[in-house]
Amino acid sequence: MKIVSDYVFGKFIEYDESQYEDVLNPSTEEVIAKVPKGNLETLEEAINVAYNVQSAWEELPPIERGMYLKKIANKIRNRASEIIDTIIKEGGKIYDLAKTEVYFTADYLDYMAEWARRYEGEIVNSDRPNEHILMYKKALGVTTGILPWNFPFFLIARKAAPALITGNTIVIKPSVETPMNAQIFAEIVDEVKLPKGVLNIVNGSGSKLGSVMANHEKVSLVSLTGSETAGQKVMLEASKTLTNINLELGGKAPAIVMKDANINEAVKNIIDSRIINTGQVCNCVERIYVDEVIKENFVDILVKEIKKIQYSNPCDDKKSMMGPLISKRSQKSVQEKVERAISEGATLLCGGEIPNKKGYFYPPTVLDNCRNDMEIVQEETFGPVLPIISFNNFEEAIYLANDSKYGLTSSIYTNDLNIALKAIRKLDFGETYINRENFEAMQGFHAGVKHSGIGGADGKHGLDEYLRTHVAYVQIKN
Ligand code: NAD
Repeated sequence: MKIVSDYVFGKFIEYDESQYEDVLNPSTEEVIAKVPKGNLETLEEAINVAYNVQSAWEELPPIERGMYLKKIANKIRNRASEIIDTIIKEGGKIYDLAKTEVYFTADYLDYMAEWARRYEGEIVNSDRPNEHILMYKKALGVTTGILPWNFPFFLIARKAAPALITGNTIVIKPSVETPMNAQIFAEIVDEVKLPKGVLNIVNGSGSKLGSVMANHEKVSLVSLTGSETAGQKVMLEASKTLTNINLELGGKAPAIVMKDANINEAVKNIIDSRIINTGQVCNCVERIYVDEVIKENFVDILVKEIKKIQYSNPCDDKKSMMGPLISKRSQKSVQEKVERAISEGATLLCGGEIPNKKGYFYPPTVLDNCRNDMEIVQEETFGPVLPIISFNNFEEAIYLANDSKYGLTSSIYTNDLNIALKAIRKLDFGETYINRENFEAMQGFHAGVKHSGIGGADGKHGLDEYLRTHVAYVQIKN
């Protein structure tokens, strides 16, 4: 049985037995590890050491900080198969996606390392004679990163890489559902001899550790990827100390299928998107709006194709197309949402029933004749469920897509460039895909609007989230 440790100032910390909870394999329901429930003294120590070493870390030339990120990336590639196995075991991810996650994480660290020579301040013209106005880009200080379970390994890098390259230090809290991959990350950080205290990992529940991570006087930024509810709690706590926040929250991505779209391509992309990670991705298609002229044909093809998706245990089957949901609670929640949709008038076209087998599996499910006011169309549903609504014209499609509290990602299928550009202008989302679905690029900017979050990640704008501007007015002699 794997015992997960905390990692603070280069030490792996273990506790007595009572301070652990079980980690389950969602494909088999077996206990595979023990994770600390959350130790506030360890968290306090982690924040203090991150604070004490931060200025020395920031004083290193960025290129030297980048070298550490590159070393971590290389070690990740060397240990890839072990990390892939771990992600499959604790998260129920299929092999191909786990592999993509691991190599993408390494590439992401390399990409962020390359910013060492590229991020820069400014010199601006002054209104006064003989004055120089210098704008420096500086680190914020200590940052904290709170992670979900759905891309647990990549999200360590998405928080740590921009933090570290810009001279910040970080304390990471993984999800209690998927802590084992973070332990490997800590081992790698230790092997590359990253200066002690620059990156620390403290495990435990969000309700126990989250408020300190958000409202500690020594923390300058709290970055959470997770649900809207956790985001609201973090924001409330952060307000006590006016800590900067970066919130990457839920989504309810609409896919709009116009009558001129390539239907086969739209169906394929939408299904691929909805079954990735068994529908447990913030930016996968969660609702379909299809022109009523092509609806019948579209729905026929969609149902025929989605029925070909088989689920199986990804630990045993490297070719598994879809794994389980993360937990029993999640499986129950998806099932209840589907049942409520049917009772509100939706027509079940396939799926919709929990299979009678071990593991938290759920079949691909299509619901026709939905309405925009239904819970299944409004609330984030972390499972492979697709509600369908038809529309009469472009304006109605845009109205229905925007009629949501979420604003993370959206997509539209059309061969008309005018329609595509009009949609980009009118869709109230942080990201829009034209004739394709997720994922986003590391050089882009992943950011939601409305209840999907505040701030974003990736690319140069993501780097900015970890920087502050310090302006100096320098009066020189004539
Ligand atoms: P969750 O909100 O339950 O947990 C996320 C993290 O927040 C965990 O580490 C948890 O311990 C912590 N947490 C919980 N309560 C907290 C509190 N009161 N204070 C501080 N931290 C707290 O989410 P989850 O089930 O792990 O992940 C799924 C959610 O994450 C979905 O809503 C999904 O859309 C979202 N997500 C968003 C993005 C994005 O980029 N926008 C990416 C991945 C996942």
